[in-house]
Formats: sequence, structure tokens, C-alpha cells
Amino acid sequence: MRDDSHTLPKRSAPVLVPMPAERPYTYAVPGDMHVEPGSIVRVPLGTREVAGVVWDTPTDPVDPKKLKPISEVFDCPAIDEQTRRFVDWISAYTLAAPGMVARMILRAPAAFDPEPWTEGLQRTEAAPDRMTAARARVLEAANDGLAWTRSGLAHAAGVSSTVIDGLRDQGVFETVMIPPRPVVAPPDTAYSAPELSPDQQAVADMLRASVDKGGAGVTLIDGVTGSGKTEVYFEAVAAALDKGRQVLILLPEIALTHAFLERFQDRFGSKPAEWHSDLAPRMRERVWRQVTEGSIRVVAGARSALFLPFHELGLIVVDEEHDPAYKQEDRVTYNARDMAVVRGRIGGFPVVLASATPSIESRVNADQGRYVRAILPARFADASLPDLKTIDLRRAPPARGGFLSPTLIEEMRKALARGEQSLLFLNRRGYAPLTLCRVCGHRFQCPHCSSWLVEHRFRGQLVCHHCGHHEKRPEACPECGTFDHLVACGPGVERIAEEVVGQFPDARAIVLSSDLLGGVKRLRLELEAIAKGEADIVIGTQLVAKGHNFPKMTLVGIVDADLGLANGDPRAAERTFQLLSQVTGRAGRTGKKSLGLLQTYQPDHPVMRAIVSGDAETFYQREIAEREKAGLPPFGRLAGIIVSAMTRPEAEGHARGLRRAAPPAPDIQVLGPAEAPLALVAGRHRFRLLVHGERRSDMQAYIRAMLAAGPKIRGSVRVSVDIDPQSFL
Ligand code: ADP
Ligand code: ZN
Repeated sequence: MRDDSHTLPKRSAPVLVPMPAERPYTYAVPGDMHVEPGSIVRVPLGTREVAGVVWDTPTDPVDPKKLKPISEVFDCPAIDEQTRRFVDWISAYTLAAPGMVARMILRAPAAFDPEPWTEGLQRTEAAPDRMTAARARVLEAANDGLAWTRSGLAHAAGVSSTVIDGLRDQGVFETVMIPPRPVVAPPDTAYSAPELSPDQQAVADMLRASVDKGGAGVTLIDGVTGSGKTEVYFEAVAAALDKGRQVLILLPEIALTHAFLERFQDRFGSKPAEWHSDLAPRMRERVWRQVTEGSIRVVAGARSALFLPFHELGLIVVDEEHDPAYKQEDRVTYNARDMAVVRGRIGGFPVVLASATPSIESRVNADQGRYVRAILPARFADASLPDLKTIDLRRAPPARGGFLSPTLIEEMRKALARGEQSLLFLNRRGYAPLTLCRVCGHRFQCPHCSSWLVEHRFRGQLVCHHCGHHEKRPEACPECGTFDHLVACGPGVERIAEEVVGQFPDARAIVLSSDLLGGVKRLRLELEAIAKGEADIVIGTQLVAKGHNFPKMTLVGIVDADLGLANGDPRAAERTFQLLSQVTGRAGRTGKKSLGLLQTYQPDHPVMRAIVSGDAETFYQREIAEREKAGLPPFGRLAGIIVSAMTRPEAEGHARGLRRAAPPAPDIQVLGPAEAPLALVAGRHRFRLLVHGERRSDMQAYIRAMLAAGPKIRGSVRVSVDIDPQSFL
């Protein structure tokens, strides 16, 4: 074991605690205790005790007499050097306190202690004094020679536990301790390797070679939906497993990707361990523990899986790498795609990014030679991409009060007659985004946010999508008191469903959004039912866009293709292109002729043209050229600074103070402060500053200097820094 104690004051250790402190705190190490960098320990902090990690960076000097001792070292493998450097790196890059980053590793406190062994029973050589039918069944069940739990054996034999107790008392069974069960069986890389097409094989060979060779490096698999990206990166996974390494596969919406786990099982004979926020606490703990002990070899997870305590990580795959869900916006703001690349660099292993519509950032990285771009040009086998067309809403408007153009309705009718499925996509939850009074013009607004209340008719409520505020939809206008004159403006998925039912009363229609009662479990079941063909028309938000394979779906209708283009976000066109490509890619996955229809008022917009023509390349080149001209990422750098407070003057005053503290720099510019587009959220007034730097500028140092020179944070003021912002609201 390495001894780092010579770098520390005698018998003391720096410990990173899950707090927004800039440095580890120093603790005394009791005489008989052994700690090393990475040890997970329990330490006193104020009036509490918390779990922390022994670190290896210097702390502020403290009087040794004042040090509090470490209370306990957990019986747990130490957080390794690579993971510690990863925490330091993220902290320096995002300006989040290192303790707050370490906190993301320490998310399963009960797992710091080893999993308990359970008591079990094992057959001995002894025979029972007399045989009964029940006893015979027990012996038969226990014939496999394995250890059983008392209740498990009783259940398997169909007898009461007293029968088991009787046999144990006679020495027919002896008590043994059973080690914790693995969460998943180990994957078998030879279980069922696919026969790849020549294009697929070429990419798979390349990936295998990069894994075998080892060393950091990023490959971007760029291939249309259905081209076999998953099939191909599974070969990289197999190569890493064969090398004895662990693998992490990041997925943007893991809770919904049941189908992914099954596919993995088809290829490797067992499922990967899952990691996401919906895991039951007990399961989280077991996964965490088995990852650090190495019995779990593959994890499929949401972005937070990056902070699992792997010791043998040898490959990270980021599927749908362009997906905005990889950006975490609260507390530590980081983009899991980018941090995966960093993790690979620190660990010296390859990272694979996969997407049908790569982010502009990754495309530029590939074009400039920092990443290798591997192209899968066609859908696998006889599956062909859907035929895509726009519906010009100026020429073919929906009937009065409706939102579906006659052309779209006609195609839905045809699909229904053929026994095939249609998907209507609208990225808006609820019934209507705005409710107003026809008499006085009153609009229902959230009392705590600068946003309209969204009507959810099914629940009979008006809901704020920013803070969760909800109220009963009234009968009369609260402003002028008139009854029955409130009107719903614009559509949400519930309203589209109402129109569908009106048009096709006999069709089986289903609405899929995150509002579905019954949560993720229910959603999974619904998705499986749809895949089996148990619905005719699906109306959904972006939840339906991600990764699902619906064999009978041959028509996709985009209700409002213009929806994402309106805001001032520099990524608006890119995002809309990605989302629409992904949604229309749900059609025709199994060879049937399929159609995608985009309802739009701007059929000539570059995004619509790119989608309809299938010429993504022109769109990418145009977007890349525009970003370059404006010095926007990845050609330049951005950071958002959001100042919020309970009163407007406080927020504005602090933001202006920060602006004044901004040092002059040749390569960095500070814009604002301006009131945020979402000026009020959950009662907090918000102002934004935007820091815009050249590609090579040291934004972090600049922002640190600005925050240090700026006004002291007082009262209700909060300042948050968002490096590489995705949202400008
Ligand atoms: P992508 O990840 O690019 O969307 P997938 O890997 O999901 O593509 O492949 C699309 C479909 O084609 C899946 O049902 C997959 O099982 C099938 N497929 C792709 N490549 C092969 C192959 N070489 N052999 C058998 N089936 C394949
Ligand atoms: Zn609100």
C-alpha cells in the first residue's frame, strides 16, 4: 500500500466533505487508524457527522491541537486516483466547489459498508429419520447442492417453514452464510455476436482496434437512426470486457430505455446494471457497492453514472450524444458528454459518441481531427428512411378549432385502414399553454414565475411548468367575474388527443408525456404495449422521440415543427433539426414504407429543407459556418452567470456590481446584465450576464477574478455560473 503520510502533517489528513468549501478540511487521524488518499471516512462537521473522502491536495494550515479526529474509516475500496483527478478537473472547469463534486460520488451512503451476508441452509450427508411427502419435496428442491434461504426453500418446495426447521434440527441441513447476490450476471461477450454488414464491420473493427490498443481517443459514430450504431458499439463493449475492463454506457433517458436493456441481454446474455434517479434506494446501494468491488462489469446509466466509483473503467459510450438531457443544470452544472471525454482522457481509455444527428460541437471536433468520425450511411437491411414532406399550414390550414391539417388526417386514416400506427408529436405537455378570459383579456399567470399557467384538463388544473404551482381551473374569470368565457389558447398533447378522438372515435389513441399517472413504470409498460401494436395513434412529447423501436409505426406527424425555432437560443436551429430528425426516425424501422409529415408555417426554413431533402450535410455546413462567424461554441466560449434574489433591485444591483468588477481582457467580453427571459422563477427575480470568450481564453480564471472582485453575496442573493450553457432562459 502506498504511504502518502509524508506529504501530510503527522497523523492528519485532508478530507473532502460534501459541502461548498473550496478546499478539503484537515482532520486528525487516530493512532490505530489507517487511511490513504481515497479512503471514505466519517467525520464530524459542525453538529453532525458526514461521509467524506480523504484527499491528496493541500489544505489551509490549522493548529494541530484544534483538529477533530476522523470517526471511522469505512470498509470500502478507496476512491481511486483517476476518479479523484476527475473530481478536481470538473471542479476547476465548472467552478463548483470540489466537495460538491465529490458529493456526487458519495450518493449511496449505505453502500460504504459491505453488503451483509445472509443466513442460508445447505444439504448435508445426513438423512431424515423418516420420510414424508413434504420432506421429499424439500430434498428434491435442494438437490442442486446450492445454499437456500429458509423461506426460499420452503417456497420452492411448497411446504411450511416448520418442515424446513425440522430437517435442520435433525442435521439434514446445516446453516451457512450466503454472500450477497450479484445485481446482474456477468456479461458473456461470445453469447450472440451479430453478423454485421460490411459498413458496420468496418466501424466495429476500428472500435475494437482502439479498445485493444488502449489510450485515450474519441470516436464519433455518425449514422442515421436504424443504421446499427448500437449493434456496432456493442462490439467495442465486448472488446473492453474481453480486456478485463469495466464499461459505462450513458443513455439520455435511461428510465425509459427498457428496450435497450433487453437488446444488451440479447447480445451478452445478461442485462447491464442500471443507474438512474428512479432506482430504489436499496438497489442503488447494491449497484454502487458492486461497481466499486468490480463484480458489475457494465453499467447503463444516466449522466450521474459518471460518478460511480469504477476501478477498472476501460470504455465509455455516450449514446445520443447530442441530447440536451446530458446537461445537468442544478448545483454542479456539467455536460456529461463532455465530462465522459475528460474521464477517458484521465483514464487513458477510448470514448465512443453515437448519434444520428451529432452536436455541432462533436462534428467540428471530428472535422478538425480531434475525434475520429465513423459513418454508417444506411439503415440496416431492408429498413428505409421515411419519406418526409412538409405541410404548409398557410395553404392547408386545419379546420376551425383544430390543429391537424386535412392532409395529415387523411394519412392517419390510411395508416389506420392498413392496421399500422401513427405518431403525432408535439413537445408540449397538458391541454393548452395559455388560458385567457374572452371578456376582459385576463391571462392566467403563475404567481411566482413569469410564465403562463398551462391547462391540464385531465387533472382539471392550471399548472406552472417552472415551479410546479397549480390551481384549480376556475369557472369564472378571477378578474372580471364573468362565467364560462375562459378560452384555451394553443394546443398541448391532451388537446391533440381530443381532436384525434373526435376524428377517429374507434381508434385506440394514447397520450404519452411525463404527466402520465403511474410514473416511469407505467410509461415503460405503455411503450412496450405500443411496440406490440396495442395502440393505433400515439400522441406524445419528446419522451417518445428517444430510442424506441415501434415496428408498426409508419406515419409520424409533427404537429408544430416551428415550435423550437422561435426562441433566441443560439442552438435553436440545431436542436429543432435534431429533435425532428429523431422523431421522424421513429417511422419505418422495419422495412414498411413510411411517411413523415411536418406541419409548418416556414417550409423554406433551412431546418425544414434539411429534414425534407435528407441533406443534413448542407445544414451542418451552414450552421458550422454561422457559429464560426459569430465566434459561438465550439469556435468560441460562453458562460452564463445568473444572479437571483427575492427582490428585483437586489438581483439587479448585484448583477450590475459584478459587471463593474469584470476586469478588462482582450479576448473576453461580458454582456449584460439583462433581465432573464424567465425573469421570475419560484419567487426569485433573475438577471443574466453572458461571458463570451475566444476559444483559447481562460474563462474560468476570468470568472473567478470577477466573482472575487465583485460585491459580497448578501441577503437572498444567489449567483450561479453555467459554463457552456445550453439554456439561455
Ligand atoms: P441505431 O442504434 O443506429 O438506431 P440499431 O443498432 O438500433 O441502430 O439497429 C436498428 C435495428 O436493426 C435494430 O433492430 C437492430 O437489431 C437491427 N440491426 C442492425 N444491425 C444489425 C445486424 N448486423 N444484424 C442484425 N440486426 C441488426
Ligand atoms: Zn411558477
